[in-house]
Amino acid sequence: MTTPRLKLLERARPEIMAMQPYSSARMEAGQATIMLNANESPWAPPGDDDCGLNRYPDPQPKALRMRLADLYGVAAEQVLVGRGSDEAIDLLVRAFCREGRDTILISPPTFGMYAVAARTQGAAVIEAPLAADFAVDADALLAKVTDSTRLVFVCTPNNPTGALVPLPTVERLATALRDRALVVVDEAYLEFAGDAPSATGLLDRYDNVAVLRTLSKAYALAGARVGTLIAHADVVALLRRIQAPYPVPAPCADAALAALSAQGIAQARERIAILRGERERLARALPSARGVLAVYPSAANFLCVRFADAQAAYRALLAAGIVVRDVGRYPQLADCLRITIGTPQENAALLGALGLREAVA
Ligand SMILES: *Cc1c(COP(=O)(O)O)cnc(C)c1O
Repeated sequence: MTTPRLKLLERARPEIMAMQPYSSARMEAGQATIMLNANESPWAPPGDDDCGLNRYPDPQPKALRMRLADLYGVAAEQVLVGRGSDEAIDLLVRAFCREGRDTILISPPTFGMYAVAARTQGAAVIEAPLAADFAVDADALLAKVTDSTRLVFVCTPNNPTGALVPLPTVERLATALRDRALVVVDEAYLEFAGDAPSATGLLDRYDNVAVLRTLSKAYALAGARVGTLIAHADVVALLRRIQAPYPVPAPCADAALAALSAQGIAQARERIAILRGERERLARALPSARGVLAVYPSAANFLCVRFADAQAAYRALLAAGIVVRDVGRYPQLADCLRITIGTPQENAALLGALGLREAVA
């Protein structure tokens, strides 16, 4: 990769392009049956009869990578599997942003990890706020682009507002930033957005688009930490250079494959349908609760709700044993709470705690 095929890689950190990546023992295993190259124990640990936990896992577990490629409708070489999409955000910032020089662009209020990853790397965070209706303002974003811009994060549906970003907006950014910056489209909640199309459909035409998907939300696997970055194969190869040697623990890969079995997918679909129905039920009921000023349209598995006094609502819910997310610290979200959609019973309890007992029946 010292001679980049992808023009965008000229915008990556040159020291990462130049370095010799770590080659793990597992990558060199080949067809051997006696494995004396990785200083592993030759015996399985107690209780592990067939998992092979004494061995380091495949750096990019092949079966899982292929399954994810199939799920998202892309090629396996466009897929990077990692420790949640949080890891992919961190890898992108570390691969593209030189400390003290390069910057990322975000549209607050949005997911906090983009800024955390950038600040950890010493990259400045440039902000182009969302419009009053929480729409991404492509003109405002592009007006903030400079020669130091490396990554532009678009979260759709956006956390914590729930608003979907139309694909033409993403495409407009990708066109304007071709060969200059990577448009990172975080689709952590896209499964809850009905038939809204994924930005993966842009990858054929735009090599400066990267899409983040996760099994943490719709596939009920937050505890397993499995996320996917989908991008041009050269971007995937770039990130592999700096990713930890064995980022996907074997039990987590197994859990992911189980979640993505035919049965797992069928169950996820049913549950997504339930959560979407519950989201609409709550969105209809909540405006009648005392102190609710607005329930914002959401394409995700949560609702962003503005209260006259969010602290009072938060305390009332907590007194009923219900914890929600106070997002009042975000710009434009004073007195807002982000409420995750739970089971029908949990949602009934929420409505009850807000004085809407009649809506429970
Ligand atoms: C939850 C969330 C993630 C994190 O996903 P993991 O795969 O669990 O790391 C990424 N982006 C957004 C917007 C999220 O809300």
